Amino acid sequence: MKKILIGTHNKGKFKEIAYLISKKYKKNSPFLYKIPSPKETSKTFSGNSKLKANFFSKFVNYPVISDDSGLCIKSLKNKPGIYSARLAKKQGSFFKAMNYILKKMKNKKDRSATFICSLSFKYPKGKIVNVTGKLKGTISKKIIGKNGFGYDPIFIPYNQTKTFGQMLKYKKIKMDHRFIAFKKLRKKIKTL
Ligand code: IMP
Repeated sequence: MKKILIGTHNKGKFKEIAYLISKKYKKNSPFLYKIPSPKETSKTFSGNSKLKANFFSKFVNYPVISDDSGLCIKSLKNKPGIYSARLAKKQGSFFKAMNYILKKMKNKKDRSATFICSLSFKYPKGKIVNVTGKLKGTISKKIIGKNGFGYDPIFIPYNQTKTFGQMLKYKKIKMDHRFIAFKKLRKKIKTL
């Protein structure tokens, strides 16, 4: 069976990416080989995504897929953006980070936000194929829903009335920024 390393330690991301990739692949996680996380030194989603693919690729002799993603909120100067995971770490949890965001947005009229995912695929010794998926939406007034991961309970996608946290898992997986990026990637890497 073909193997692919899904280069993320984030269990929510792992499940989503694994669900999208063909059943022909055995999907391995960095935990299997006790691979640590690389330092995210780039200032862009694509820079960090490529950096992760290069890093994880050093540990295996089969293809690697990795993503860098985050939530960009217009009225907060597109923050937390690439610092989405780091904000949760700094605040102590995603719940605290969501409350921090909601407080910052209390008097903001513009609640528009975009989830961004930069996805990278690399064959051993091959060049990186990189694509980006974006999904527009708004930030809810409260934390609503227990499904999903990360900032899902405060993000209402464009044209929807529920937060990602309220949606059924597979409904979210088939409409989010990662799915949009994955569709672009599959056009380029047909075996996925
Ligand atoms: P990183 O790509 O490892 O820097 O982490 C991205 C962070 O963005 C995650 O830890 C989540 O906090 C957030 N994020 C990315 N995609 C999603 C999503 O689909 N739902 C909720 N939060 C997400």
